[in-house]
Amino acid sequence: MAVRRIVYYPDEPLKAKAKPVEVFGPKLDRLVEDLFDTLHAYEGVGLAAPQVGASKRLFVLQEPGGEPMCFANPEILEQEGREEGEEGCLSLPRIYAQVSRATRLKVRAQDASGEEFEMEALDFLARVIQHESDHLDGILFPERLDLITRQEKLQEWAEVREQLLAEEAEAKHAP
Ligand code: ZN
Repeated sequence: MAVRRIVYYPDEPLKAKAKPVEVFGPKLDRLVEDLFDTLHAYEGVGLAAPQVGASKRLFVLQEPGGEPMCFANPEILEQEGREEGEEGCLSLPRIYAQVSRATRLKVRAQDASGEEFEMEALDFLARVIQHESDHLDGILFPERLDLITRQEKLQEWAEVREQLLAEEAEAKHAP
């Protein structure tokens, strides 16, 4: 069990297309465990493998008070509806924006043991699944914004990122 360091936008491998999960077993179990540990440590709702530096088509999510869920090689089979809602991302902490997403999805994926499942997701859960699935294609939420908003948010992020890196450097040198 380990909390991993989260990769900040736009560092590697966030913008790469992640590779399919082909081998299920102890090594993948460890990665899934680390994803949950990291998700909980940062009090997030969803976390994708590329965000901890593993370029694999894998993400985990857990709604507050909900069941932990793991999605390997997810595929969105159907989607409908459209709604704007606030999103943030652990790879761009402290940045939030309104993002337009489908409100109903049908998804197929494999769980942590490789077992295939299909499910329907609505509203907030559908939003999280779309956000995390985007991570596997190297897409982060700023890329879902109109050009002007994206530039604003990325400018905001550039400042926050510098601040975060400075805070981390300071923490490292603290006695
Ligand atoms: Zn994210």
